[in-house]
Amino acid sequence: MKPILPQVQLNTLGSGHVERGHPWVFTNNVQSVSGDPKPGELVRVTDPKQRLLGFGYYNPKSLIPLRMLYPPQAGEGHDNIPDEPFELSRKLDRALSRRKKLNIHSNAYRLIWSEADGLPGVVCDVYHHYIVIQFLTAGADLRKDMIIHWLISHLKPRGIYEKSLGLYRSREGLKSAQGWVYLSNHQKELPVQIEIYENDMRFSVDLELGQKTGFYLDQRPARRLISSLKLTGTVLDAFSYTGGFSIAAVKAGAEQVTAVDSSKEALAQLNQNTVLNGCSRQINTVSGNVFNYLAESALSNKKYRLVILDPPSFTRTNKNTDRALLGFIDLHNRAARLLEPHGLLLTCCCSHSVTRNDFKNAVLSGVRKAGRKFNLKSIFGPDPDHPEISQIPETRYLTCIFSQIG
Ligand code: SAH
Repeated sequence: MKPILPQVQLNTLGSGHVERGHPWVFTNNVQSVSGDPKPGELVRVTDPKQRLLGFGYYNPKSLIPLRMLYPPQAGEGHDNIPDEPFELSRKLDRALSRRKKLNIHSNAYRLIWSEADGLPGVVCDVYHHYIVIQFLTAGADLRKDMIIHWLISHLKPRGIYEKSLGLYRSREGLKSAQGWVYLSNHQKELPVQIEIYENDMRFSVDLELGQKTGFYLDQRPARRLISSLKLTGTVLDAFSYTGGFSIAAVKAGAEQVTAVDSSKEALAQLNQNTVLNGCSRQINTVSGNVFNYLAESALSNKKYRLVILDPPSFTRTNKNTDRALLGFIDLHNRAARLLEPHGLLLTCCCSHSVTRNDFKNAVLSGVRKAGRKFNLKSIFGPDPDHPEISQIPETRYLTCIFSQIG
């Protein structure tokens, strides 16, 4: 006999939303819930007329209580219950075959990008022989064993490190979980740092203490752009983290790079990375607040050939987008003043609640406030190992703007 799944009925607004391909359903779009689903449990999802829309996982504790996982299943009757291990494997197979087609010149890439790969709440990055994975929702957490089992059998990693931390987990009513969840028999001791390559650069990544999954893989195209320039003179790498841009700038010919970050751990890692790439001499670090550094540089009349700005997300919700945009205007006003005539500016925004256009306008306003001219050279996002799905605007979260400042 088929198990009976709990059922979530959506209102017209919620149904329309799901039918247009967005997997999130908020509380105000849920009409009724029956069968008392446990956090993360699979539910049958219907429209107000009881028509089957598909299957999702439900968590009454979450701000987004329902996330769609599977469309209505084919076969006898239109409400067949999905065979979860099989359906999840299909999604994972698809994610892997998508990545295999990419020509990214690195042994580190994003394998699973949450909603963009049809696996809400799962983020998984491959670092050569190792994997870092995050289960950020109750639904993702409940499917953890199945996903880890698939990763072991398909990628044969030496180790899998779980890093399910932060605000998202607590919003789902989950505790943080961090540590090795798998080590192969060949792995004699726990690795502390992993070395990866990207084009002609090498980076040491601390899976445990590093930010996010360890390295900002999404900035690969921006590092590629910087290393393709013909640079001379000095560069400011503001919000440098472990120095990806600083090293790319030296590869491009920069004589001196100043990397500024408030994280001492990130700068210690940056110093290791400069040794790995033979460019310690050209890169100096400043530990502190970028805003203070920009103010001090203005006072001492410092000028740069290239300024790189890659701040953390200024906003996590739509509520304070206006404040974030004012912050961006101020940041770009200050940065533009430090550029030599016709200097270059690479600036990035990693918040999905700030649209590409709003970000561009904020950059433009800041540059104009500084009395400088803005000449756009390119706008881009991450490589396709971080896919963007047009029906899911949240999957487009990173915008990089490269410009020349007259
Ligand atoms: N450009 C980096 C990623 C930057 S992530 C790369 O490509 O690898 C943002 C960084 O900003 C983090 O390393 C964080 O430690 C740092 N940070 C956050 N707020 C800061 C501030 N006010 N001043 C200086 N650094 C800051």
